[in-house]
Amino acid sequence: MIKGKKSLKGKTPSRRKFFKAAAATGVAAVAASSLAAPAVAAERVEAAMVATWPRDFPGLGTGAQRFAKQLSDMSDGRIQVTYYASGERVKAFDSFDEVASGNSQMYHAADYYWVKKHPAFGYFTAVPFGFTYSEINAWIHHAGGQALWDELTDDFGTQSFICGNTGVQMGGWFNKKIRSANDLKGLKMRIPGLGGQVIGKLGGSPISLPGGQIYENLVSGAIDATEWVGPWNDEAMKFHEAAKYYYYPGMHEPGSMLACGVNKSWFTSLTKSDQTLIKTCCAWADEITMAEYNAKNGAALARLVNDHGVKLEKFNDKVYDAFAKGAAEVYDEVQQHSDLAARTHAAFVKGRKEIGAWTNLSDSPYIQQRNRALGL
Ligand code: CA
Repeated sequence: MIKGKKSLKGKTPSRRKFFKAAAATGVAAVAASSLAAPAVAAERVEAAMVATWPRDFPGLGTGAQRFAKQLSDMSDGRIQVTYYASGERVKAFDSFDEVASGNSQMYHAADYYWVKKHPAFGYFTAVPFGFTYSEINAWIHHAGGQALWDELTDDFGTQSFICGNTGVQMGGWFNKKIRSANDLKGLKMRIPGLGGQVIGKLGGSPISLPGGQIYENLVSGAIDATEWVGPWNDEAMKFHEAAKYYYYPGMHEPGSMLACGVNKSWFTSLTKSDQTLIKTCCAWADEITMAEYNAKNGAALARLVNDHGVKLEKFNDKVYDAFAKGAAEVYDEVQQHSDLAARTHAAFVKGRKEIGAWTNLSDSPYIQQRNRALGL
């Protein structure tokens, strides 16, 4: 033991220090044992979790269900989360009010569904020309993002944590080629959040629909185009039966962060230990969900193209430049909404510059060079 300490610290602790440490440890041990009793008798926690996703929907639904189960497993069943998919307790887009009011304790959703309550919510899922998965995690966890998110949700009596990510999303499904911004004029497209507002600036009609209602609207012609997520999720939706052209990359959601929202009064009534357990489980779900998307998107893309005859198309520079112009107009309006919206936007722009500077020098050129040199 002493030898081990020596090798760690480079010198043997003096006897005085040793006894002082032993005494302190003894006190700590007594204190810990006296505190141990309430921990053993920790209360059972029951929570209802509503979600914006259809039951068992790949990635989004299954990821949320896996998160609810993991909370129970991590607490040996002491924390019981009853999970309700969209429509099972409330409609998808009523999830926020359900939790803010305290009727349910938790939701799993994308917080940009709540942009009509406050435009800053957009920044906490994905915004046009925004962060990738690794960038947004850097911003939320280590560059002030969570504090702004907390400030935003506090007004509603909720709090949100990262609880998943879809990665870069595809640009969407269209029945005609999009060669310039003119081709977006009059287009009725399912595209939520600030990305939808960009399409609006370019003359399109953005529509927000929960996932479970997109297919029927696309098939009936009630909408002309839609975005959803990426190959793995879009294949499950069977959009290829109703639209032919599959565009990439999406400017609107470069790394969509999924959220676990909690009723704040309920959450803060929990022990620190349970609060930490829930937050840790959220971070776990974030990583596992992203890994699953990355593992499954490639094979799904190959099936869409090879088995279903989907035409892959890349947005050209002209269209992307128009998106950028539309996004600038949307951001001007967002900043005028409120002090919090302006501060959130400023923090986003700062983060994109600073965090993005590293992406520019690391992931982006590395992938380009790897693929070029190996002909991938
Ligand atoms: Ca989407």
